[in-house]
Amino acid sequence: MNPMAKRVSRFGTTIFTEMTALANEYQAVNLGQGVPDFPTPPFLRQAAANAIEAGINQYAPGNGRSRLRTALADKMARVYGLSVDPDKEIIVMQGATEAIFATIMGLIDPGDEVIVLEPCYDSYVPSIIMAGGIPRYYTLRPPDWAIKRERLATLFTPRTRLILLNTPHNPTGKLFGHEELTIVAELCQQHDVIAVVDEVYEHIVFDGRSHLPLATLPGMANRTVTISSLGKTFNATGWKVGWAIAAPEITQAIFRAHQFITFCGAAPLQEAAAAALSVADEYYTELREMYQRKRDMLVQILTDAGIRPFTPQGTYFIMADISQFGFADDISFCRYLTTEIGVAAIPPGSFYHNPADGAHFARFAFCKTDAALEEAAKRLQKLPH
Ligand code: PMP
Ligand code: GLN
Repeated sequence: MNPMAKRVSRFGTTIFTEMTALANEYQAVNLGQGVPDFPTPPFLRQAAANAIEAGINQYAPGNGRSRLRTALADKMARVYGLSVDPDKEIIVMQGATEAIFATIMGLIDPGDEVIVLEPCYDSYVPSIIMAGGIPRYYTLRPPDWAIKRERLATLFTPRTRLILLNTPHNPTGKLFGHEELTIVAELCQQHDVIAVVDEVYEHIVFDGRSHLPLATLPGMANRTVTISSLGKTFNATGWKVGWAIAAPEITQAIFRAHQFITFCGAAPLQEAAAAALSVADEYYTELREMYQRKRDMLVQILTDAGIRPFTPQGTYFIMADISQFGFADDISFCRYLTTEIGVAAIPPGSFYHNPADGAHFARFAFCKTDAALEEAAKRLQKLPH
C-alpha cells in the first residue's frame, strides 16, 4: 500500500531539514538553515513566562488575542503610516508559513494562476499546489535581481488571481524599492490581482535603506495581503507567531481557511508578542546594526575563501556564486562543503522550479554568533581556489 496522497508525493523533504541533518552528522558550522544561534531577548522570554503564569493558557480568539492585534495596528501606523483596523483587518497566525498557506487557500480556486517571484521560500509553491493553483514563475536574475516590467507583464492572464512576493528577499537579500514595487502595483490594478507580500525580514535592512510595504503604494491598501512574523526580528523562530493584514473582505476569506487549519495560535506566545511589538524603536536600530556588522563579516570571509558573494541589501542571507569551483551543481558543492570542509550552506536549486537555475549558487546565513562565523572562516581556508 502506498499511503501517500498524490497531492504531496512530489514534495520531498525540505532542504532545510536535509542540510541541518547533514551539518549535525558532520559537526559542520551550520550557515545553512536560517536559525539564529544566539538567545531570544530576556524581556521576551520573561513576557512568555509571565503570560503562562498569569493563566493565559486556553484558546486564543480565532483572529488572535486582542492585545496583539492592537499592538500590530499601532506598529503599522507608527512605522509605516498605514491605518489598520485591529478587529477587521488582522489575523494572527501560527507563523508566516500558515499565513501564506491560509491566504492562498482562502483566495484561489483550482485552476487559478499565481505569479511567484523565484527563487522563493520553499513553502510557496507547495501551498499553491495544495490549493489546486497553477504557479507562473518570474525568475530574478543576478547581479541586481530586478523586476522588469515587460517580462513580468507577460505572466498576467485572465486567470491570474495573486502575485506572491517577498521583500526583503530570501535567498537573494534583495530589497525591492519604490520603482520595482510600482511596476507590481500598476500591473495588479490593471489586471485586478491581489498581491501577497511576505515581509518577515522587514526590520533587517542595511546601508541606511528602509523597507517599503507594497500596501503603502497608491491603490494597493485594498488589494495587498501583508504577511510578517516575530521570528526573525526577535530571534524567536520557534515561536511561530505570525500575521496577515488585509482589507476586511480579503481578511474574511483568509479567515475561512485559517479557522480550519489551526483555528488559533499559541495564546501565551501571542500575549508575549504584544509586549515585543511595543519595544522602543532603538531595538530595531540595534538589530539592523548587529546584522549589518555580521553581513560585512561574512561577505569578507566568503570573499577571502574565493567564493563570490552578492552583497545583500536585507535579510540574514548571502547568495554567492560558486561556479568557479567546477562542481556539477549547487547540491554537490554544498555536500562537499559540509562533509569535507565542515561548513554547511543551502543549495538554492530547491528555491527554483527549474533547479538548474540555482546550480551556480550557494546560500549562507549570518544569523550566527561571531564565534561561529570565525570558526567557519578558519575552515573555509581549506577550500582550494
Ligand atoms: N517567509 C520567508 C521568506 C522565510 O524566510 C521564512 C523563514 N522560515 C518564513 C516565511 C517563515 O516564517 P515563520 O517561521 O514565521 O513561519
Ligand atoms: N526561513 C529559514 C531559511 O530560509 C528556515 C526555514 C525552515 O527551516 N523551514 O533558512
